[in-house]
Amino acid sequence: MARRIPEPFRIKMVEPIKQTTPEQRHQALVQAGWNPFLLRAEDVYIDLLTDSGTGAMSDRQWAGLMMGDEAYAGSRNFYHLADTVREVFGYAHTIPTHQGRGAEQILFPELVKRVKGTSPVFLSNYHFDTTKAHVEIAGARAINVLTPQAFDTETAYNWKGDFDLPRLAETIAEVGADNVAGLIVTITCNSAGGQPMSMHSIREASKLARAHGIPVIIDAARFAENAWFIQQRDPDYAGHAIADIVREMFSHGDMFTMSSKKDALVNIGGLCCFKDDIELFHAVQVRCVPMEGFVTYGGLAGRDMEAMALGLKEGMDQDYLSYRIGQVAYLGERLRAGGVPIQTPTGGHAVFVDAKKLLPHIPADQFPAHALACELYLEGGIRGVEIGSLLLGRNPQTGAQEPSPFELLRLTIPRRVYTNDHMDYIADCLIDVKRRAASIRGLCFDYEPPILRHFTARLRPV
Ligand SMILES: *Cc1c(COP(=O)(O)O)cnc(C)c1O
Repeated sequence: MARRIPEPFRIKMVEPIKQTTPEQRHQALVQAGWNPFLLRAEDVYIDLLTDSGTGAMSDRQWAGLMMGDEAYAGSRNFYHLADTVREVFGYAHTIPTHQGRGAEQILFPELVKRVKGTSPVFLSNYHFDTTKAHVEIAGARAINVLTPQAFDTETAYNWKGDFDLPRLAETIAEVGADNVAGLIVTITCNSAGGQPMSMHSIREASKLARAHGIPVIIDAARFAENAWFIQQRDPDYAGHAIADIVREMFSHGDMFTMSSKKDALVNIGGLCCFKDDIELFHAVQVRCVPMEGFVTYGGLAGRDMEAMALGLKEGMDQDYLSYRIGQVAYLGERLRAGGVPIQTPTGGHAVFVDAKKLLPHIPADQFPAHALACELYLEGGIRGVEIGSLLLGRNPQTGAQEPSPFELLRLTIPRRVYTNDHMDYIADCLIDVKRRAASIRGLCFDYEPPILRHFTARLRPV
């Protein structure tokens, strides 16, 4: 058996987590309307709801907090952050924001303003939820052009975050280059399960955009995880330093937005940065002041910017990344060995369990993946999240509940928070749930909110 690589850190401070009894969990879930979103976090033993802002900071980052310069304007931590952005990405102009969506809300309206045509669109491999929302708030349409391989969860493919390049060229021709406000390169592709985009796809999509005068925006939340996948999977980059791969990826973009709550290893923060377009940078700065805050803090405390400057580099550490993505893969292997059907290969930040296969007797309108999320909580106090028909919602025209192409339970792994023993515990619980799969019932609504219903819906077993 291959020797397991342990966590590349030792633990200096601990936060106790409490296991509950099956009775307590049942009561908590009933009170939460059979919706894990509505649980109190304290009633959760292992929380896999998201990897956003849930990571652990290092001793150096905590020390950095004490170095906060809380000047309203021109904080030294801002200059440290901007210098780090210049060094890591090669982008000259930095605007801090309170998180990723803060960057989206100040950038997209300015890009839409520059469009010469009358029906602005953004093109992406896949727009993240808030990205799509801000594209639409800015008065544009969001079109996804993801490689078809991404939709087949069973077949392994290295680059399920890639663009469908021929389709991208066709789409530009169909909508007209004059209408395209930007090409958004989402790395890794969150919505496809944290799947990476190849350097080839980044390069070719960028070339195509530039040939049409379309600006390239990198949605950079998991930039370091994407670079690690390129290093591991593309023979052309074997043995290359993560820092060099990152520089090359970003050489193909003109600007980036980032949720720093992922690979930058902070609990709050974001970035909106420009390579050399000073005019656009200034226009976005003007928008930043009333929306996010003055241009050298953008909704963050000085100490938050310091922690981010340090986290950007820690997130690119080779040993950290191998441990991080290796831990996700380890959970995936344990589940696969236990006969639990999962998406292949596992992505950078989450394991997706195929509830359609695990609970084939539960129809889409009784939400099999949500039922699985509830059972995993009852079994072991573990909180995952449904990505399926409950999330999809009803057809806005007909009001009908149509089946989602996927019924997935997402187990999202926070960074540097849980050990591999926790992964074993998660796998053991899910394998036990699988043993009693045939007896698990679907769910129906007690209260169905009109929109974004997965956040606040209340349900009960049928
Ligand atoms: C999280 C995320 C965002 C939004 O960032 P927030 O910090 O949650 O506002 C945008 N794009 C991607 C790909 C993300 O994963």
